[in-house]
Amino acid sequence: MSKNLDTINHHESVVRSYIRNFPTVFTKAKKHKMWDEDGKEYIDFFSGAGALNYGHNDDHMKQKLIDYITDDGITHSLDMASTAKADFLEKLDDVILKPRDLDYKVMFPGPTGTNTVESALKLARKVTGRTDIISFTGGFHGMTIGSLSVTGNSMKRQGAGIPLQNTVTMAYDNYVDHDTVAYLERFLEDSGSGVAIPAAMIVETVQGEGGINAARFEWLKKIEEICKRWGILLIIDDVQAGIGRTGSFFSFEAAGIKPDIVCLSKSLSGYGLPLAITLIKPELDIWKPGEHNGTFRGNNHAFVTATAALDYWKDESFEKEIHEKSEIVHNFLQKIVTDYPEIKGEVRGRGLMIGIASEVEGFAEKVTEKCFELGLIMETAGPNDEVFKLFPALNIPKEDLQKGLEIIEESVKGLVKDPVTN
Ligand code: PLP
Repeated sequence: MSKNLDTINHHESVVRSYIRNFPTVFTKAKKHKMWDEDGKEYIDFFSGAGALNYGHNDDHMKQKLIDYITDDGITHSLDMASTAKADFLEKLDDVILKPRDLDYKVMFPGPTGTNTVESALKLARKVTGRTDIISFTGGFHGMTIGSLSVTGNSMKRQGAGIPLQNTVTMAYDNYVDHDTVAYLERFLEDSGSGVAIPAAMIVETVQGEGGINAARFEWLKKIEEICKRWGILLIIDDVQAGIGRTGSFFSFEAAGIKPDIVCLSKSLSGYGLPLAITLIKPELDIWKPGEHNGTFRGNNHAFVTATAALDYWKDESFEKEIHEKSEIVHNFLQKIVTDYPEIKGEVRGRGLMIGIASEVEGFAEKVTEKCFELGLIMETAGPNDEVFKLFPALNIPKEDLQKGLEIIEESVKGLVKDPVTN
C-alpha cells in the first residue's frame, strides 16, 4: 500500500468516507481529470459531489485568484466590506438574478451547504413564528442538527444522537403511486391530522444523495401553490442541483417557480473553494444585525473565483452545451438499461444530474468499483447505494464524456457476464 495512504488511514478518524471508495492518493487535477501518485489518470464523473461543476482548476478562475493573491488582496475579513465581495454581489445580480427577474437579498451564512440550510430553517421560523418544517422522503440537507432533522437517511439521522424534532416528513413526488401533493394538502386542511401548519417546506428539485429522484415540474408548481395558499415559506435547497447541474443556473427555473428562500453552495465558488449563500425574498430579510453570525462568512478568494465563474452564464451557450451533453448521457443510460435487462435498471435524473438505479442488490457499488479500476471516478447514491450517479464536469469535452461512458459500459458488461467473480 502507498505510504501516504497508510499515513492518512493511520491518523484520520474512521469517519473518513470517500477515501474508502477511491483508495488512492491524488496529486493533481485539471478540468475533468485527476491523477494519482502512480501517475494513473482518471476521468472524474464525481466532480467533488457537485462542487466542481466547471471541473478542476479552471484557468480563467485560477488566473483571477493568482492575480488577487499576488496583489495582497484581502483574504479574511469576516463580513466586513471588501472589493471582492462587492464585485461578486454586483455580478450575481447582473448576470443571474436580474435576467431571471429574481429579487433576492444575499446572506452569507457560513461556508458550507449545511450552513445555508441552517440559516434558511432559522429564518423561516423567525418570519412565521411557527416551529415545524415539512421535509420530504429521500431528502438530504447536511450534517448539522437542523439539517439532519430534515434529512431522510436513517444512518445519518442516528448520528445526531438526540431526537430530531419539529419536522414532519411527507412523501416526495413518485414516492408512492398516489398524488403525494393531494395527500400532503389533506394534512394541512384537516385540523385532526396531527400536522400543524409549518414554517416552511424544504425541497430539492432533484434529490442528489437520496437517489437522483427528480420531482416533476407540475409537482413542484403545486408545492409552490400550496405554500402560497397556507402562508408557508418555500425553501429550495439547490446546494447540489444548482449552478447548472440540471441544465440551468437554478434547478427550479424550468418549473417556473420562485422560492422564498434558496440555498446555494457547492459549485458556487466555481473552484472548489468553500462558499455558500442564502437567497432571501427582500420582505423576509428581518434578521437583526449579527443575529446569525460566523467567522468564515466572507471567503474573499471564493468571491474572486465565483465572480469569474459567472462568466460562464453571460449568454445562453453554456446552457445549450449542458443540454446537448445531457441528451447524450440520457440516451446512453437508456440504452444500457435496454441492452442489459439483467441489471433491472431505471434511468433517473435531469440534466447532468443523472444515473441508473438497479434493483440488483450491490450492483451500483460494483459498477463504481469496476469503473475506478478502469480509470473513472463515480459515486453511488440512494438509501441503499442502489444508484450509480454520473456527475461529469458540465464543461467536459464530448470526446472525454464518451470515453467515460464507454468505461461504464465496459464495467456493466463485465459484471453482467461474470456476476460472481466480480
Ligand atoms: N444540501 C444538499 C442538497 C446537499 O446535497 C448537501 C451535500 O451534499 C448539503 C445540503 C450539505 O452540504 P455540505 O456538505 O457542504 O454541508
